[in-house]
Amino acid sequence: MKYLIISLLVLLILYGCVSKAEPTLQNIVEEKNELIEIKTLENKSIEAKSANARNITVGMLVDSYSYSPTDQQLMEFFYIANEILKNLTDTEMVLLSIKRYDFTSSAGNHLLGDPLVTLYPANETPEYLIFFKSDKSSASYGGYSMRVERSDVCNRYSLPKTGSQKYMAIGVIDWTHMFASCGYDYSDPQHPVHISDFSVGGECRNTKNTPCAYNEEFGYYQCNREDMLSSLYNSNRYYFSASTAVHELMHNFGGGVYIDHFDTAGCDELMGETSYAEQPGAFEKYAGICPATYNIFEDNYKGCD
Ligand SMILES: [Zn+2]
Repeated sequence: MKYLIISLLVLLILYGCVSKAEPTLQNIVEEKNELIEIKTLENKSIEAKSANARNITVGMLVDSYSYSPTDQQLMEFFYIANEILKNLTDTEMVLLSIKRYDFTSSAGNHLLGDPLVTLYPANETPEYLIFFKSDKSSASYGGYSMRVERSDVCNRYSLPKTGSQKYMAIGVIDWTHMFASCGYDYSDPQHPVHISDFSVGGECRNTKNTPCAYNEEFGYYQCNREDMLSSLYNSNRYYFSASTAVHELMHNFGGGVYIDHFDTAGCDELMGETSYAEQPGAFEKYAGICPATYNIFEDNYKGCD
């Protein structure tokens, strides 16, 4: 409740300063006659501290126009993402908050505008924001990476290219992304339509006419292929998206997508060899990111005064 009051105060203060011509959080909220649901979790850490006691603060933000996951589902996702990052970097995710906001009225695709800054005042800004939002890019790829420069915050992880610690890293993630989807028409990537009992387009690792099987638990059709169904990515409904969240975080620390990614020429060079890519399941284990990039992330922990 305390945080809610603080947040409302911040909103009122900001309301006095902003131009009415721009779509601001306050007038969007008034137009829609909605209150923002802000929930701060009592229990910030759900797992034991990592061995080196290092952590990264994380926020989860849901565009309520795109999705309506329950808190329990979000926590299951978070648990898996935390496990993946801990296993790869011995760094624990500390969840600061879950927030929900309807981004329908944000004119165009102004993710960087008022809503994000207003939702995250300096003292509540996570180092990494996992933002569940459906758009063409997140729906097509499962997620993408972006950053907001913030002169009022200090991120303990400095960006290797610039040394900057004045930013909030953001992974825009498709909450309902389908791993190993089969028989779907993706003409509108945000609204795939099941059209065939066999794979089409580049589905099923670019193998046409693979039979599809309905996954009751996940609620969609998947490629009926042992290598995909038994993949680590398929071990839980949220594993692929959780893995994508870790993947997008790491893009802040690599040298560019073609170097950051697993099993690329740039990655081979960084690793000094190629055998890392030949181990079964290694791609999934490293969330599609070059193993060396995780070390760069760890090395760029600078802390804040
Ligand atoms: Zn990537």
